[in-house]
Amino acid sequence: MGASRVWQALGLHASLQMTHYAWHPARIVIVGAGHVGATLAYSLVLDGLAPEIVLIDQDQRRAEGEAMDLNHAVPFSTQCRVWAGGFEDCAGAAVVVLTAGAGQKPGETRLDLAARNGAIFADVVPRITAVSREAILLVATNPVDVLTYAAWKLSRLPPHRVIGSGTILDTARFRHLLSRHFGVDARSVHAYIIGEHGDSEVPVWSLANIAGMRLPDFRAAHDLGPDQAAMDGIVDDTRRAAYHIIERKGATYFGVAAGLLRILEAIVRNQATVLSVSSLVPSHYRMDDVCLSLPTVVTCNGIERVLHLPLNDAEAEAFRHSGDVVREAIGRLNLPSPSGADG
Ligand code: NAD
Repeated sequence: MGASRVWQALGLHASLQMTHYAWHPARIVIVGAGHVGATLAYSLVLDGLAPEIVLIDQDQRRAEGEAMDLNHAVPFSTQCRVWAGGFEDCAGAAVVVLTAGAGQKPGETRLDLAARNGAIFADVVPRITAVSREAILLVATNPVDVLTYAAWKLSRLPPHRVIGSGTILDTARFRHLLSRHFGVDARSVHAYIIGEHGDSEVPVWSLANIAGMRLPDFRAAHDLGPDQAAMDGIVDDTRRAAYHIIERKGATYFGVAAGLLRILEAIVRNQATVLSVSSLVPSHYRMDDVCLSLPTVVTCNGIERVLHLPLNDAEAEAFRHSGDVVREAIGRLNLPSPSGADG
């Protein structure tokens, strides 16, 4: 089978067939130059992915200070320009990353942030789309699924151009803990957390595998007995990781910045990478009008395709519950009516 037939069989766009692995210079704008935004900008400088990085923050002096500091890392990396800008700089951006907003305080859930950060999005998103309707919006602000949905509604962009970082971080935490338990590189663990980036998130145990072997088979092949307590502990530690970190250092930012960088790489380099990111859940999951994470093919188009997972009954039920939790939080925001959105 020729390469283009393979791409067609995978159902990928013609544009992707033509441009796969092509590299396009890209301006990345980061709205919110706090812990997450500044750490992402630093990762971008070291990675060399973007020749132009713009920081926008309501605290202009903070954005300026971060930009000055970041520019002093450039001589040790790949040439790029970093500056503290305004919303007019979103014109010509490939991606605008939204990290503006309050983070959790010790004991707070992500959903507790919805009203405060929803109000920030109601201000910021129209200012972005007033100057750019080409940029992909990448949302990291919490509660990320609720705000991905809000960004879609407020922007009136087609749903495939609005992405939430979703459970990319939870999936990384899950793989890290599984890799330690099974003694293999986390990159060799294929396991996903789906649903809400939050307390109702769902581990997909039925499809988790190492070297193509489901975990019970991997255990049996390596003379490891069943260990339900350890697996329950891994889920709990994955779900509670942010709480544990925030209790100790006040915020989390390295993991999410690495996850955002990975999403940006998939977009800018058009890689068709499968990542657990948040977007409007497609109809085959029978879950109307909500954004949640699922393994998703990410390309220069944004959300190229959300994969249809063969979940078992318990996982499907837990995923539906996660959708109910997020939909209820969305309902509490005063968003434009469904007819106001394109696509
Ligand atoms: P932070 O307080 O360090 O930074 C937030 C920045 O947003 C501040 O610099 C603030 O001035 C700016 N800001 C606020 N309102 C603004 C506006 N209207 N316009 C422009 N800038 C504005 O917070 P942080 O630790 O960087 O966290 C940012 C967000 O990311 C939080 O909501 C946090 O919960 C979330 N987060 C998400 C993940 C994830 O996995 N998605 C992980 C960690 C943190």
